[in-house]
Amino acid sequence: MDRRGAFELAASRARGVLAAGPLCDHCLGRLFANSLMLSSHRRLGARLRAAAARRRPPAAPCRVCRGLMDGLAPFHSRVLEAAAGYRFSSVLVGVTLKASMLERDDRVRSRHGLAGAGGVKAGVSAALAAALAASTGSAAVASSPDLAATVDFRDGSVSVRSRPVVLAGRYAKASRGLPQRQAPCAGCAGKGCAACSFLGAAAGPGSVEGLVAGFLREKFSGGRVKVTWIGGEDRDSLVGGDGRPFFAQVLDPRRRDAPLGGGAADLGGVAVAGLRRVRSIPRRPVRFRSVAEARVAVLGGDGSRLGGPVPEGDLGRLDALSDCTVASYDGAGARSERSLRLLGRAPGGAPGSFTMVVDAEGGLPLRRLIEGGEVFPNVPDLLGAPCSCERLDFRGVRVVGLSRQGGARRGPARRGGSRARRAGIAAGRAD
Ligand SMILES: [Zn+2]
Ligand SMILES: [Zn+2]
Repeated sequence: MDRRGAFELAASRARGVLAAGPLCDHCLGRLFANSLMLSSHRRLGARLRAAAARRRPPAAPCRVCRGLMDGLAPFHSRVLEAAAGYRFSSVLVGVTLKASMLERDDRVRSRHGLAGAGGVKAGVSAALAAALAASTGSAAVASSPDLAATVDFRDGSVSVRSRPVVLAGRYAKASRGLPQRQAPCAGCAGKGCAACSFLGAAAGPGSVEGLVAGFLREKFSGGRVKVTWIGGEDRDSLVGGDGRPFFAQVLDPRRRDAPLGGGAADLGGVAVAGLRRVRSIPRRPVRFRSVAEARVAVLGGDGSRLGGPVPEGDLGRLDALSDCTVASYDGAGARSERSLRLLGRAPGGAPGSFTMVVDAEGGLPLRRLIEGGEVFPNVPDLLGAPCSCERLDFRGVRVVGLSRQGGARRGPARRGGSRARRAGIAAGRAD
C-alpha cells in the first residue's frame, strides 16, 4: 500500500475511533503514528481529525489523557528547573502515570484493534523529552542518556539524575599513616544520610579514598564517588612507581566534560595520575602483580630483635622464593595459590633486619608471607625464626589482564565472598 492509501485507511479508522468518544490530537495521532511511521503525534492527530471531517476540536476532554497532553508545560518547566545545574548533551524522560490513565489507554487501543499503537506512557515520555531536548539543545535518546529526568504524575514529583562518569586512574602514596579506605559514616553505616550529605563517608579526608573521592567530586561537581581498587595496602605503606590502578564512578555529575589533566594531581600525600574515561568498570576480576619492598626484623625466641646483622647464610635460604607458588588459606580454610618471585634481598636497615623485594601476584597476602600464618612457604619457616614485617612499600602495581574465571571456578573458594574479592580487587589488606 502506498503512503496515501495508508493514510486514508488510518483516517477512516480514526473516524470510527472519534465516533466512540473524544480524543485530543496527541492521543489520536499516537494511535496511528507507528503504522504510518510518523513521529509527531499532535500534527498527525490534527491531520487525521481534519480528514475524518471532524474539524472542530473535541468539546469534551480527551477520554485517555483527560487533557494531560495539552497541559505538560508546567511539568516541562519543573524538569528544566531541576536540570538547570547540569551540563548534558542527551536526555531521557521517564514517567509514572496513574493506573487509571493506563487503563483508559489500554481500553481504547483494545476496543479499536490498535494493539500495536504506542501507549500513553511512551507518548508522555516522548513529549517531555522532545521539549527538554529542544529547550536545552540536547538530543532525546532511548538509552544511556547524560541526563535522566523522572516525572511521577501520581504525586507530581520531578527529579533528575545524570549518568555516572566512569574513570580509570592510578594513585601514588607518599605519606605514611593514611589508610586506603575511608571510614563509613557512623550515622548510616555508609548508606548515605543527611548527616554525611548522602556521601556515606565519615567527615574529613583521612584516607586515600577520601582524597581521591573529594578530588573527583569537585572536578565533576558530582555526588557520591565509588572507588574500586586494584589491590590494597596498609595505612603505613607507601605506593611508588606509577602507582596503584583504580576505577572510580562519580555519581550524579553536574558536568561530565571536565578536563582530566595530563600530569599528576597532588592531593597532599597522594598523587593521582593517568586519569581517563572508560565505558564501565570491568565486570570480570582484574589480574595484577605488585612489586613490593619489605623491611623485616628477625626476632629471637623472646620476641626481641636479633642483635647483629642477619647472616648471609640465613638470608640465602630466602632464595627458595625466587620463583615459587605460594599457597594461602583464608579464615574459612579456602586455599588459593599465587605466584611469587623474589627479586632481591639484602641485610640492612637496623641490626637484625633485612629487606626483600618481591614481585607477587595480586591477592597474595604479603604480610602473612613475611610473618607466617596459613601461608606456605613463608619467611619464618625458611629462616627458622619469628619475623616481623616493619615496613611494606609498593614500588608499583601493574595490571596483567582480566581474569578468565567468570564464576567458572568451583569449590569452597566460591563461597567466601564476591568474585572481585577472590581475585584481590579491593582487598583490604596489603597484597
Ligand atoms: Zn489525550
Ligand atoms: Zn551518613
